Amino acid sequence: MSTDLRSGAPLQIFGGGPGGLAAAYYGVKAGYDLALYEGSGATGGNARTLKLGDCLFDTGAHRLHDKNPEVTDEIRNLLGSDLMTVNAPSRIHLAGRRLRFPLQPGDLLRNLPWQKVARIILERIGRNRDPSPSNFRDWAVDQYGKTLAELLLLNYSEKLWGEETGKLSIQIAGGRLRNLDLRAFLRGVLPGDDPRHLDGAFLYPRHGFGSIFSRVSEEIGSGRIHCENRITSLKHGEGRIRSFVVNGTTRVDARTIISTLPLNLTVEILDPLPPRTILETARSIRFRKLLLCVFCLKRPKFSDNASIYFPESEKPFTRLYECKNRSPFVAPDDQTAIVLELPCHETSPYWQMGEKELLDTVLAALNDVERVREDEVLNTAVYKLPFAYPILEVGIEQKVEELIRYLADFENFHLLGRNATFQYLHTHDLFASAKEMVGRIDL
Ligand SMILES: Cc1cc2nc3c(=O)[nH]c(=O)nc-3n(C[C@H](O)[C@H](O)[C@H](O)COP(=O)(O)OP(=O)(O)OC[C@H]3O[C@@H](n4cnc5c(N)ncnc54)[C@H](O)[C@@H]3O)c2cc1C
Repeated sequence: MSTDLRSGAPLQIFGGGPGGLAAAYYGVKAGYDLALYEGSGATGGNARTLKLGDCLFDTGAHRLHDKNPEVTDEIRNLLGSDLMTVNAPSRIHLAGRRLRFPLQPGDLLRNLPWQKVARIILERIGRNRDPSPSNFRDWAVDQYGKTLAELLLLNYSEKLWGEETGKLSIQIAGGRLRNLDLRAFLRGVLPGDDPRHLDGAFLYPRHGFGSIFSRVSEEIGSGRIHCENRITSLKHGEGRIRSFVVNGTTRVDARTIISTLPLNLTVEILDPLPPRTILETARSIRFRKLLLCVFCLKRPKFSDNASIYFPESEKPFTRLYECKNRSPFVAPDDQTAIVLELPCHETSPYWQMGEKELLDTVLAALNDVERVREDEVLNTAVYKLPFAYPILEVGIEQKVEELIRYLADFENFHLLGRNATFQYLHTHDLFASAKEMVGRIDL
């Protein structure tokens, strides 16, 4: 087994997604010598922008949430005028109509049969508040009544997480899930709800969301970034990670490590393996996968919306997004790329399907929404995100805490990022926590 790959770097970062890149960015700014190890061939993780024909598309419907002024300034300094304020509202596709997002009471009245509207109102008036709902289903029914909850939140959540909503934690209602907030679907429906901050204005880079991380990678410098270097083993002893193995062949002495690798994977590659209970807990936490079906179309635009949500279970996709409605610079005037998101488990037929069959199935379902002629389709692609969403089941908090507490005993090993900490973190959170962590660790 060889030893090189900048063994001497005092700061070693695992993973070149937004979390790892943010850590390396602040590390370089602080003057640290560092090495970043990324398993795939490119940086950006789940937040990349790729090219298909003449169009750019993001790997997931990303936008920059302007929630941390310091982070927004940092990213604005990097991108300059390429960071644009965009106004593109989203829609909910329901019963063949495109309703406003978040849903408005007027839209419900206009678009649902009156019997259903009456039931929604009666359930709302006659509800008995549950002071401590134990799962997401109970919370949603308690909050909105059964009919409205089932119409939007529960169907959508089951598609998104692939689990019965009675097994999902109430965390998914909001809180940590701030920006994928399911309440957003219905915000505006209850008295006192304020939908204004979801009105469709957000920040977005001219050349796609992933350009934030291309720019950050430039600042870090290619000499510090080692792509196609997968961490395959973490050797530990006496409360430290002693060394790690890259691609199963190269051993590197461990110094101070910031790891953004998925939490369960981290536990699995410990050598020696942790106690059986820890291993079992790690094996019981799961990530939802996401399939992206991309269609480059010969038409100037598909819709006016940033995203269209599909809560109904008959549609295989949960969301359609069109990057050109975020930036006109990502496609030629006469073309647009649309991306359909299909959340999956490993065993899902869609995840197993061949590319052609999958694209045909998705296009057929899309044709019920809006006709796309075969001769309009210029290019297609399927892109897979194996670690898209941490699945927040009932009891997940205790499991995650147990694993994080176990790993915290390695004094030179620090967890950062969405999948490493099993939290719904976004770019602004990752930059903020990376800055805080780099400032705190003692090299
Ligand atoms: C559909 C979707 C929509 C989203 N929308 C938004 C949004 O609008 N705004 C927003 O701010 N955020 C959004 N996010 C969240 C955002 O994508 C994540 O917060 C971000 O990607 C997390 O970064 P990370 O570095 O923690 O993890 P990741 O992006 O998963 O990066 C981890 C990296 O580690 C690498 N890696 C894995 N295993 C190994 C190994 N063994 N060795 C070396 N490298 C390894 C991976 O290849 C990857 O590059 C969205 C996410 C999804 C899935």
